[in-house]
Amino acid sequence: MLAAILLSTLAMTLIVALRYLATSGFFAWLTARRRPGYHARLGPQMRREIGWSLASAAIYGIPAGIVGWGWQERGWTRIYSGWQDFPLWYLPLSVLLYLFAHDTWFYWSHRWMHRPKLFRSMHAVHHASRPPTAWAAMSFHPYEALTGAFVIPLLVFLIPIHAAMLGLVLAVMTVMGVTNHMGWEMFPRRLVHSRLGGWLITASHHQRHHEEYRCNYGLYFRFWDWVCGTDKGLSSAV
Ligand SMILES: [Zn+2]
Ligand SMILES: [Zn+2]
Repeated sequence: MLAAILLSTLAMTLIVALRYLATSGFFAWLTARRRPGYHARLGPQMRREIGWSLASAAIYGIPAGIVGWGWQERGWTRIYSGWQDFPLWYLPLSVLLYLFAHDTWFYWSHRWMHRPKLFRSMHAVHHASRPPTAWAAMSFHPYEALTGAFVIPLLVFLIPIHAAMLGLVLAVMTVMGVTNHMGWEMFPRRLVHSRLGGWLITASHHQRHHEEYRCNYGLYFRFWDWVCGTDKGLSSAV
C-alpha cells in the first residue's frame, strides 16, 4: 500500500512538473514572439523561477498523490464520473464553486504572507521575480507552496465535482497562473475593460500586485479585493 501511495505521489509530481513546463514553456515562447527582447535579460531569473517551480511541483504532488490514490483505490472524495449523477446545471456551478473557494483561500493566505515577517520567510521568493515571467507561475518558497498544495485535494472531499469539470478547474488554474505572470494581456481590451472583465483577474491586474505589493491580492476574481478595499485597478505597463 505504501509503495502504491509513493508511486502515485511520484506520478502526480511528474504530471504537475510536465504540465508546468509545457504551459509556461508555451507562453514564454509566445512572449518571445509577441514581444521580442521583452524578457531577454532575465535569463538567470527565469532559471531560478524554473528551479523553485519544480520544487513546488514535488510539494503539490504529495497531497495530490495521496488523494489520487485514495480516489482510485478506496473510493475517497466526492469526484463523480456519471453525467447523470447530478443535474447538468450543477456542472458549471461546481466549477465556479471550486474557483471561488480557491480564490478565497488564496486571497487571505496571500494577504497574510504580505505581513513583513512572513513575507521574508514565505513570499519573498515569488516577488524576487521583477518583473515576473511566464516561468514564475509556481515560483514559490516551499512554505508558500505548502499553503497552496492542500486546497484542491481538500475541496474534492467537500464539494462534489465531475471528473471532467475538475480537469477544467485544473486547466484554468494552470493557464491563469502562467498568463497572469507573463507581463502582457492576452485577452482583448474590450473584455478586460468590460463589466465582466471588472470581476476577473488577468495579467494586467496581477502585474500591478507585482509592481506595488500591497494591493490586488486575488487569484481569479476581484471580489475580495473589492470587498476589502485592496483593489488598485490595472497596471498601466501591461
Ligand atoms: Zn504573482
Ligand atoms: Zn504577493
